[in-house]
Amino acid sequence: MLKFYNTLTRTKQEFIPIGNVVTMYSCGPTVYNYAHIGNLRTYIFMDLIRRSLRYEGYRIKGVINITDVGHLMADGDDGEDKIEKASREQNKKPLEIAETYTKAFMEDLKKLNIGCPEIVAKATDHIQEMIDYVSALYKAGFAYETSDGIYFDISKFPGYGKLSGVNLEEQLAGARVEINGEKRHPADFALWKKADPLHIMQWDSPWGMGYPGWHIECSAMSQKYLGQVFDIHSGGVDHIPIHHENEIAQNEALTGKQSVNYWLHGEFMLVDGGKMSKSLGNTYTIAQLEQMGYAALDFRFFCLNAHYRKKLNFTFEGLDAARISRERLLAQLAQHKSSDKPTSKDILDNYRTEFRNAVEDDINIPLALGVLFTAIKEPKSKDIYLLALEFDKVLGLSLDKLPITQKPMQPSIPEEIAALVASRTEAKKNKNFAEADRLRAEINALGYHILDTKDGVVVTPVEK
Ligand code: AMP
Ligand code: ZN
Repeated sequence: MLKFYNTLTRTKQEFIPIGNVVTMYSCGPTVYNYAHIGNLRTYIFMDLIRRSLRYEGYRIKGVINITDVGHLMADGDDGEDKIEKASREQNKKPLEIAETYTKAFMEDLKKLNIGCPEIVAKATDHIQEMIDYVSALYKAGFAYETSDGIYFDISKFPGYGKLSGVNLEEQLAGARVEINGEKRHPADFALWKKADPLHIMQWDSPWGMGYPGWHIECSAMSQKYLGQVFDIHSGGVDHIPIHHENEIAQNEALTGKQSVNYWLHGEFMLVDGGKMSKSLGNTYTIAQLEQMGYAALDFRFFCLNAHYRKKLNFTFEGLDAARISRERLLAQLAQHKSSDKPTSKDILDNYRTEFRNAVEDDINIPLALGVLFTAIKEPKSKDIYLLALEFDKVLGLSLDKLPITQKPMQPSIPEEIAALVASRTEAKKNKNFAEADRLRAEINALGYHILDTKDGVVVTPVEK
């Protein structure tokens, strides 16, 4: 019996789909930059849900959106549109920005063996659906107009806050001075924003030229493709308190029905125990890890070792350990593959049961991996290899592709940088930490990032 932890009910629940085909919506990327490994952890999680459902015999109709308009810098109603900001900075059209990073995202999915959902929905292809949705909310009395947009009136929706358990009264009392004085409640959010003439992306609407809010995208597109009530909605935990709360309000205000039966959220990835952010220079892309000699699947394997509801701390030591462990697994499987000896059906079925139990228990992939690692300790047998291939339907580690070849660990870096890195290592050895820090800053300024690992210094070009 498949069970999921449902954020809405805060319990593990048996999964009972509405119909024959499981309907699932996943919040997709905002395509203003390359996806970083934290984002990709969330999509590996999406993939594990989908693979687990298939393993249990379900068919799936999945939707992922591509946010190419409306996601503002502050996740709320203020700040510049992320795509427009990138467009100004890179002197490219918003469409070009979105296309470049959508393509890069799709390539990352492929490298990580993340199956793309059946429907990929671009926000800018659904502007009319969003306008219709906002109009319907407005007509039904759930929205009001201000000088800069149309806002959802959360006081009209008593269920507001049920996903995250936020207390709106407390929020109101503690609210900072509102930037937008026309809003009736600080948590009211924009459904549609009126655009000033400088805004690049804008469309005609009953409220003049403007652009949609970020949250309305997901309501309009999920309902278009999956109906008013669907089975699963996935995303990262950061979306619980605002984005998903707002989606629920938009969906349920109009229909009066609970729109999503199972809300599944993946925990965050940290880097060296802290927040991952561009300004700290500690975000990595899959391409960067590859340049450093890791395979994309080393990263997938690294993620598989932590349950999706646990924070996962990314370190290069951890990634090295994952890489070694994955290589060991592949080497062992290669030996099993070349053996003609059988393994008894009882033993195999035992492993199958244990593996299925782990998957069914809220997608406990670390436990499921543990079953595989126990199984490969059996005497060498082709049956164990074939069993691993069965398990790989969930794990997605390309266990059918043996053996692997690895690229050298260090990317090629210019001599000038290598010399600075050597001087810094020397300075550290002499305990001249001020000089070491100065050299680090100089290396950073030249566009390279350095990381001290137990195997030495890893140098990578900083993502532009
Ligand atoms: P965005 O492109 O910013 O809309 O984010 C895409 C997805 O990545 C969302 O589902 C976020 O919840 C998720 N996400 C962002 N940062 C992290 C992180 N550090 N760890 C895991 N998931 C993340
Ligand atoms: Zn969304």
